[in-house]
Amino acid sequence: MLTRNFRQGRIIFARLDHGEDIIRQFTILAEENGIETGALSAIGALSRADLACYDQSSHEYGKIALNDPVELASCSGNISLKDGRPFVHAHAVLSDRTGKTWGGHLISGTIFAGEVFLQELSGGLPLKRVPDSITGLYLWSKD
Ligand code: ZN
Repeated sequence: MLTRNFRQGRIIFARLDHGEDIIRQFTILAEENGIETGALSAIGALSRADLACYDQSSHEYGKIALNDPVELASCSGNISLKDGRPFVHAHAVLSDRTGKTWGGHLISGTIFAGEVFLQELSGGLPLKRVPDSITGLYLWSKD
């Protein structure tokens, strides 16, 4: 197991921009605040979204396209470095007007409204994502 210890840095609240992509907005938030390592959570609503489930046999993401408005009932994720730049990994639970939910890896989503809590983590070696041959994913390097 890889472990890293950090100290809590800044806590940033942000209102996301209507019509923009949620992953892109998370990334801009990290970049503009110089955050290389952090944890985030968000709530709000999306006008559409793409979730995914990773097929552990084929090593490919199966996309779940949601083309109707949904609540962003829950979203949690982290920020670490990939190719030297802040990279957001987020999962989400989305719900419709009946309360039906979908969950998974959040690929993209068009923001209707969104509020983010971002916790900067500092004082430790940055977490860097590298290709992992066993899973086919970009995981945190032990180096
Ligand atoms: Zn994921």
